[in-house]
Amino acid sequence: MTTTHQASPNNMTHDITLVGAGMCGMFSALAMAQKGHQVTIFERDSVPPAGDADKAFFEWERKGAAQFRHPHAFLGLMCNLIQQHHPELLARFQEAGARIVTLEEMLPPKLRNRYTAAPGDEKLWVLLCRRATMETVVRRYVENIENVRIVSDRTVTGLLVNEHDGQLDITGVELGERTGGHEPARHNSELVVDASGRTSKFPGWLAKLGRPVREEKEDAEIVYFTKHFRLRPGEREPTRSERPGAGDLGYLKFGVFPGENGHFAIILCVPLGENVLRRAVRDTGLFDQICLNIPGLTPWLENARSEATTEPFGIGDIKSVWRHFVTDGHPLATNFFAVGDAALRTNPLYGRGCSTGIKHAQLLAEVIEENRDPVTRELRFAERTEEELRPIFDASLREDRSGIKRARAVMEGRVLHRPDSLKKWFRLAFGDAVRAASREQLHVLRGVMKTFHLLEKPGDFLKDRRIQATIFRYMVRGRKRNAAARLQPGPSRAALHDLLGLSRPSRSPG
Ligand SMILES: Cc1cc2nc3c(=O)[nH]c(=O)nc-3n(C[C@H](O)[C@H](O)[C@H](O)COP(=O)(O)OP(=O)(O)OC[C@H]3O[C@@H](n4cnc5c(N)ncnc54)[C@H](O)[C@@H]3O)c2cc1C
Repeated sequence: MTTTHQASPNNMTHDITLVGAGMCGMFSALAMAQKGHQVTIFERDSVPPAGDADKAFFEWERKGAAQFRHPHAFLGLMCNLIQQHHPELLARFQEAGARIVTLEEMLPPKLRNRYTAAPGDEKLWVLLCRRATMETVVRRYVENIENVRIVSDRTVTGLLVNEHDGQLDITGVELGERTGGHEPARHNSELVVDASGRTSKFPGWLAKLGRPVREEKEDAEIVYFTKHFRLRPGEREPTRSERPGAGDLGYLKFGVFPGENGHFAIILCVPLGENVLRRAVRDTGLFDQICLNIPGLTPWLENARSEATTEPFGIGDIKSVWRHFVTDGHPLATNFFAVGDAALRTNPLYGRGCSTGIKHAQLLAEVIEENRDPVTRELRFAERTEEELRPIFDASLREDRSGIKRARAVMEGRVLHRPDSLKKWFRLAFGDAVRAASREQLHVLRGVMKTFHLLEKPGDFLKDRRIQATIFRYMVRGRKRNAAARLQPGPSRAALHDLLGLSRPSRSPG
């Protein structure tokens, strides 16, 4: 089936080159095609193998996207954008086994028993499937859109430019010689969009042209490990319980990602300084032992309910990055835009990258449609990116910084939550009250979930009067009681080392 999109009413359509057919590249192509633009995507990797999602997961060579086999959570922001703009695509995901999980289904039993639907709950849902499934389905969908052409096995190696009056216009891309016997070539186009992900070469090319990209960068100081499993025939997923399937023990962050057709993955993230544990997590048997000692993960592995489908594997270089393509009110280049990870990225632990990437793609399509002048387009895109995505980036940075502090305190055997000023005491007491209230009060949890799903600016729910009153009530009942909500069920650092027979770390609170 081929889908054709009509030109936008103001008839301002362009030939657009997209670099990269990853998550954001695909959704940028969809957004641009819907506005009637002619899109050519160059992708360095090969096409997905014919067949089902398993074939793609186990066999697709995806060197250009190192995170391809790590599990992905697809949050409300992304899910609602897909539902709103590409409802047929959502149906395809479901046909491939992706599951829609609603707020009600995600609730722990105590809250689920009291659940009654409220307006807005219909937006608080996730799609559960492996990234390989998501990418293959969207790729096949995009391949059938008449005004999009995907050229695989083709690496973009440089920029074509035109410099005049101090302004740098991007006029196309250079294509390298690569697999498939392609000759090096040049491809002209009216607009170039960098969707080449976390290892984008564009900042380097722009710097060589005398247009350095200012970059904010902070290390999350973790290494991220994944192992995939499948439920054995006849086994069912454990039912949701009060024991969280994701959490932070200070020396270790963990999470389970249910997928489609019985597949699921577990992640264990280890702070950079935890060298002994980092080596242990790479060992497939020790990985399972760690999971079996964390109450929220145990039910997924105990009683031989599931079998491993991969060994543990890791990814480093977990950084938050924000790139500025406008400096002092001037764009570095015109007719050029960067979207998704090529422009900004956050710690994958929060599962925000695809959502912010798809939102970014949508913003770009709108900015191109609404503005004709090349300089205005650049400035407007930078402004809209700041307005919509900067609060999410800043919140992620704050979470990273407190995670780093916590990990360091646990490693050094220090007690972290002992405030030495009234301001710090208040901040801690407030945080504890929000956490405790969100475990017991549905309306507070709804607010927290709006932030979690990126459906409003982080923390906006705290402006709600009813939520404020509840949190105040929790604060009044005393910090000690609320602080219990901060505790994550799982062994202490020293206990886990003992359980695994690892050399006991020094200076640990036991
Ligand atoms: C470990 C890990 C776990 C994650 N988990 C989640 C999660 O749970 N939820 C979530 O929303 N996000 C998650 N993310 C983030 C998410 O993967 C990214 O935000 C998302 O893939 C960004 O999409 P993108 O299109 O910008 O880049 P990518 O998806 O990385 O795609 C870039 C594409 O460009 C191609 N390319 C690169 N260079 C060139 C070139 N020169 N020429 C041609 N093609 C090129 C690559 O081959 C690739 O196909 C995770 C990230 C990591 C690292």
